[in-house]
Amino acid sequence: MNKYEVLGVVGEGAYGIVLKCRQRESGDIVAIKKFKDSEDNDDVKRTTLRELKVLRTLKQENIVELKEAFRRKGKLYLVFEYVDRNMLEMLEDQPRGVPLERARSYVFQLCKAIQWCHSNSIIHRDIKPENLLISKEGTLKLCDFGFARNLHKNGSANYTDYVATRWYRSPELLLGATYGKKVDIWSIGCILGELSDGQPLFPGESEIDQLYTIQKVLGPLPPNQMQMFYANPRFNGLKV
Ligand code: ADP
Repeated sequence: MNKYEVLGVVGEGAYGIVLKCRQRESGDIVAIKKFKDSEDNDDVKRTTLRELKVLRTLKQENIVELKEAFRRKGKLYLVFEYVDRNMLEMLEDQPRGVPLERARSYVFQLCKAIQWCHSNSIIHRDIKPENLLISKEGTLKLCDFGFARNLHKNGSANYTDYVATRWYRSPELLLGATYGKKVDIWSIGCILGELSDGQPLFPGESEIDQLYTIQKVLGPLPPNQMQMFYANPRFNGLKV
């Protein structure tokens, strides 16, 4: 870390802290994600190693660039290019959404990032405005691959069902069903809706309300998902 001067904290998450730093020699501004101690926590260890592996695989202009990774005193540090702000902050400044041309440009760049992930058999699973970094020039960079998973060969998965922030989660994730690449496409649609008028498309207040909010707009779930809904103990006794 001696190579870097810490300028401030830009984000804090479940797995660590993100610092804005200056590389002393080059003057380059970078974002350093410092993970919590992973030595005695298998969960943290698994997540950090997964994120590192995914980031090394995925090099693309719309995916945040990993510059280097190092370990100090049991902690993993990931050094990224620094990007000025995220889409959540941008939407706070523009509560009515962005003009059509800009919405189109951001969604196109997000589609390119996800196309690249999917063609490398990786699902992001946590696309949300906070994880979409926007540079001064209007370039979108997808970040936070802490939840990203490698797909099995058949292209679908049934890993943990607790992924992705509720508002951007597809019905199959909410229901704990088998899911695949389509969960990312669902989130892209939610982002497009939010960019167009500044309002979250499906702002559910709980998991059950999330499914209700989706159905108010799109109509009832398909029969197989409706069956899962009634069979899921989490939604027991509730009718949509
Ligand atoms: P966590 O997995 O702990 O949520 P993230 O990777 O999502 O960590 O980073 C937390 C926040 O830090 C992000 O939501 C984003 O706003 C900010 N951040 C992450 N990477 C960068 C970066 N390269 N440049 C600027 N800000 C960043």
